[in-house]
Amino acid sequence: MADTSFNNYPLSPALLKAITLLGYHQPTRVQQEVIPLILAQKDVVIKSQTGSGKTAAYAIPVCECVDWEQNKPQALIIAPTRELAIQIKDDVFQIGRFKRIKVAAVHGKSSFYHQERELKQKTHMVIGTPGRLIDHIEKGTLDTSNIRYLVIDEADELLKMGFLEQTATIIHALPERRVTVLLSATMPADILSLCMSEMKDPIRVDIHEESQVTDRIIQERYAVIPQGKIKLLKEVIIVENPDSCMIFCNTRHQVDEVYAELKALNYSCAKLHGGMEQGHRLSVMKDYKQGFFRYLIATDVAARGIDVDDISLVINYDLPEEDENYVHRIGRTGRLDKYGKAITFVTDEDERRWLEIDSYLGKAVPLKERPSKECVREAEAEFSAKLLLVPESKSGKGESLNAEIVKLHINAGKKSKMRPVDIVGTISNIPGMSASDIGIISIQDVSAYVEILNNKGDLVLETLQSTPIKGKLRRVRKVRH
Ligand code: AMP
Repeated sequence: MADTSFNNYPLSPALLKAITLLGYHQPTRVQQEVIPLILAQKDVVIKSQTGSGKTAAYAIPVCECVDWEQNKPQALIIAPTRELAIQIKDDVFQIGRFKRIKVAAVHGKSSFYHQERELKQKTHMVIGTPGRLIDHIEKGTLDTSNIRYLVIDEADELLKMGFLEQTATIIHALPERRVTVLLSATMPADILSLCMSEMKDPIRVDIHEESQVTDRIIQERYAVIPQGKIKLLKEVIIVENPDSCMIFCNTRHQVDEVYAELKALNYSCAKLHGGMEQGHRLSVMKDYKQGFFRYLIATDVAARGIDVDDISLVINYDLPEEDENYVHRIGRTGRLDKYGKAITFVTDEDERRWLEIDSYLGKAVPLKERPSKECVREAEAEFSAKLLLVPESKSGKGESLNAEIVKLHINAGKKSKMRPVDIVGTISNIPGMSASDIGIISIQDVSAYVEILNNKGDLVLETLQSTPIKGKLRRVRKVRH
């Protein structure tokens, strides 16, 4: 019988506390299989889909195994896209929060210099996209000499994006004595041969989900002429009246157009596509995750790996160009055993493409009659009422964790020769405080950040108003996580 509680694994209290506060009551199937294997230092090849809890399946044991005292990176995670790298970083950060795991994400379209500075500090785990990881390795800004854990996530996507050779280059820069974990939704020959050449007797874990993502999603399609799409969209939205909805288009231009139409109606919406600046994209995703708006209109940049709770409806305004993207898009709803709905618009020109998707799915998707005028009129009152409501905010996954952690900003950093030990020394001398109440410390040029755990933030904040750090009274204030 597989273990059904996280308490059955030899995990430290710091990790178990984070897991509980994240609301993970029971390990998922992939976690049940994988956690004991990585804890036993085995190489593992995992065939599993996103939404199965696969990130925590490796993040939990790797966080457990890293040695906090060591300053050089001990674990490296390779991910195909920036979005995924950032999401993995967030997950690892939350899981390792009470163990004070320091984690850095390195990816393109983000300042190399800032990443370099971050990597100079104590870093336990690094998550990166292949190109930027190679840049850092070649410039000597990422020290790989102490990497003991390597995770290759979404290997099939790395392959598809032409990153397999770069992945091999990174692997060859790592020590041979290490645990290697590879995850992929499919196992084409190129990936299997990578496993054979770079892994030691890997154990294969195949998770056949009892209920496939696509089984948990009610799928429907509507026949429509291209000029009629926007009208149909508005009708479908009124009738379905979703709390949280993603609308996928194939081009940036189409996203802009649909967004402009919905915005003009005062719908609570935002857009996301590759033409937008990276910082803006990240803030849109963050706001969507927190439930600040109801409709996200996006290209496929938002289709893969992105994990937002409680999306009740996905609409394929345009038919995706790749079969797999259909599944990735609709998989934004129906996460982790939840149910969802996906609606696809199919024009005459799309008919052949649709048949390909249909045979890829191996399951008939019913063709629906467009909503009648009466049906739309009847639904309108309820829809308009919801329009006036502010969307319910989704409690972010880290919220319970954040609730008992306070982050403080201290106005002194490297330029004043401030070191983590100075901050730890001062804070652990405060009556009622010990070193285990101090979380992650990050020292920058002219400021430092320190997390105070166990609901003791206010005590520390108050005391530091009149207690010097490194011989001087510093300005200390609370900041947002
Ligand atoms: P992933 O497959 O890694 O994209 O994870 C899908 C979602 O499941 C994420 O929102 C995780 O935070 C969440 N999750 C992971 N493990 C568990 C668990 N044991 N119980 C509940 N939720 C989980």
